Amino acid sequence: MDCDIRLCDSLCCRNCAVLTGEEVAELIAKVKKEYALELDPKKYFRKAKGEQGTYFAAKMIKGQCIFLNKEKRCRIYRCRPTLCELYPVIDVDAVDERCPAVGKNKLPADMLAALKKRYSEEIDDRIKLEQVFKFI
Ligand code: SF4
Ligand code: SF4
Repeated sequence: MDCDIRLCDSLCCRNCAVLTGEEVAELIAKVKKEYALELDPKKYFRKAKGEQGTYFAAKMIKGQCIFLNKEKRCRIYRCRPTLCELYPVIDVDAVDERCPAVGKNKLPADMLAALKKRYSEEIDDRIKLEQVFKFI
């Protein structure tokens, strides 16, 4: 997707992508392989409790994801969580209307449909069921 981050100030990186414990372990292994970066889980992730279980989310620093650099780019882009890849799709049938790429049919319908399909197939079923996450 073509993003002009001057329009949105990387809005999507001010939301927390929630991951299962297994997904965090996979992400850490991928980042080590791709970027030769050792992520200490305690330093980079915080816990999020839901009704179905306990999850993890990237820590936020001054209202933005810990992985966002000064240029508002993701430092682990090639390994970013699936929820980050699927944005602006934020649920099986919901998009974040605040994303400038969504308005006035800027996002082609086939691309949107593909993202929603991926959401339904790839996002953990427990996460899909959660209504609210309590960060601890
Ligand atoms: S992991 Fe990367 S893409 Fe996802 S919210 Fe953080 S900075 Fe943005
Ligand atoms: S997906 Fe939307 S909010 Fe995120 S960088 Fe692109 S235009 Fe901005």
